[in-house]
Amino acid sequence: MLAPAINIVIPLYNEEEVFEKLISRLTTLMDSFQKTIEVILVDDGSSDRTAELMTDLAMNDQRFQSVILSRNFGHQIALSAGLQQITATEAVFIIDADLQDPPELLGEFYEYYKQGYDVVYAVRKNRKENFLKKFAYKSFYRLMDKISYIHIPLDTGDFSLISARVAHLMNEMPEQSRFLRGMRSWLGFKQIGVEYNREERQSGESKYTLRKLFQLAFNGVFNFSELPIKLITNLGLLTVFSSICYFLYVVAKKLIYGNVPEGFTGLLFVLVLFGGIQLLSLGLIGEYVLRIFFQVKQRPLFVIKETIKDKERKTTGFNLEHSANEI
Ligand code: UDP
Ligand code: MG
Repeated sequence: MLAPAINIVIPLYNEEEVFEKLISRLTTLMDSFQKTIEVILVDDGSSDRTAELMTDLAMNDQRFQSVILSRNFGHQIALSAGLQQITATEAVFIIDADLQDPPELLGEFYEYYKQGYDVVYAVRKNRKENFLKKFAYKSFYRLMDKISYIHIPLDTGDFSLISARVAHLMNEMPEQSRFLRGMRSWLGFKQIGVEYNREERQSGESKYTLRKLFQLAFNGVFNFSELPIKLITNLGLLTVFSSICYFLYVVAKKLIYGNVPEGFTGLLFVLVLFGGIQLLSLGLIGEYVLRIFFQVKQRPLFVIKETIKDKERKTTGFNLEHSANEI
């Protein structure tokens, strides 16, 4: 297949239930779209039939490319793996497999691309999720916006249409811990948000476990914010200042009232409090050190087991050029 105008990159992890629906929606879209499209499906170490379904599809229809990773690396890494495979001459459309991001929006997004926008990101107008999850998401994005040194638009995810040059630049960014929506904002160029209604997942359960969600949130905070470290410094200054005040107070009290006994409870409280603050501070610094640790190791981001492009099967292993890491 000649280089397509548009690549659609979709990470899949145990999505056999939604697979057929996804492919039929994509095929309808491709049949009617004004430009050539190639879909890159990335299997993120599924334990169900996802990889098998992808293989069958890619062997029969060259508009679909299949990339199978050697194990579960996580959503952001699977997406990065897909982005490494793009050949699009114009733009790359990034969506989830569960149809929460309607593929049909490509047309609208593409209009903005034609107007000269390098990044067209989707802004969620509503979320059909339970109250707690919604609340957690909302607070996280608002917190991120307050503390990060770049502006990451509120209520946006990875669902977006990015120009081929932005996609290539993202591929060139050597970060091991990847928070793609942050990297996308950091890159700059002309960006615009388009509102949409986030659908419910079409079938199956969310593949984002609580642990994975926290990892994503941590990557957002520790890759794009220096506030935690600044907080520690300020806390340290505050502690020193208050202990000096306390010392002066005790001395003054002694001078005025003579031998006044000091309470043990107060002492214990201060001891425990500062013990806690110290541990927390070490933990926060640890998060940054951990990221340095992974960056320095320069371990590949992912391992590809097999790819199918233009109905041709290739078994691959390490690809040290395409590296980074999962933290
Ligand atoms: N996903 C993935 N690897 C993972 C977890 C999720 O590739 O370890 C994919 C999943 O198949 C889906 C997308 O990432 O296409 C978003 O996941 P999900 O819909 O489960 O997350 P949610 O919408 O609940 O945040
Ligand atoms: Mg989903």
